[in-house]
Amino acid sequence: MAGTVGLNNAVVINTCAVTHQAVSKSKQEIRRLRRENPNSTLIVTGCAAQIDPMSFSKMVEVDFVLGNSEKMRPEVWSNLALGEPVENERVQVDDIMSISETASHLIDGFGTRSRAYVQIQNGCDHRCTFCTIPFGRGNSRSVPAGVVVEQIKRLVQKGYNEIVLTGVDLTSWGADLPTSRHTQS
Ligand code: SF4
Repeated sequence: MAGTVGLNNAVVINTCAVTHQAVSKSKQEIRRLRRENPNSTLIVTGCAAQIDPMSFSKMVEVDFVLGNSEKMRPEVWSNLALGEPVENERVQVDDIMSISETASHLIDGFGTRSRAYVQIQNGCDHRCTFCTIPFGRGNSRSVPAGVVVEQIKRLVQKGYNEIVLTGVDLTSWGADLPTSRHTQS
């Protein structure tokens, strides 16, 4: 992650909230990882942590809880590496519905995989009664076309021949973009 101070001896658990079972499994994994890594800093993030941060912060195995927006901010990780935040900031989870921008792309490769992934959209404006995803990901927001094209070019230059465009609700891509940014390349 560019511009960050290294975070040593840390375990990061990116939780899922799509079903109750996924949340339970995340908690089981946290307990297992703590048993196996008693001296590590254990950081929980992802959708389950975003939706119900307190249920994770009260687990004795957990050191820090980060929201889905916070986990994409390099300075949050730098602060953790530097010994910040102080104790009363061990839960850093903002209101995801207030987020209107997508995070920048943070990686330039996928190891030895032949297929690369580019997130072009996040969040969802629908509210299907059975679904908790919008409360973990927030409202729909799109990556401008020019940024998507640049990211794809970088990946192609690195040898990836197959790029998968990803998002929570791809059919909503672009609806929040001004026309000029929408078509920029
Ligand atoms: S459309 Fe949105 S709210 Fe409905 S199931 Fe898909 S992600 Fe969930």
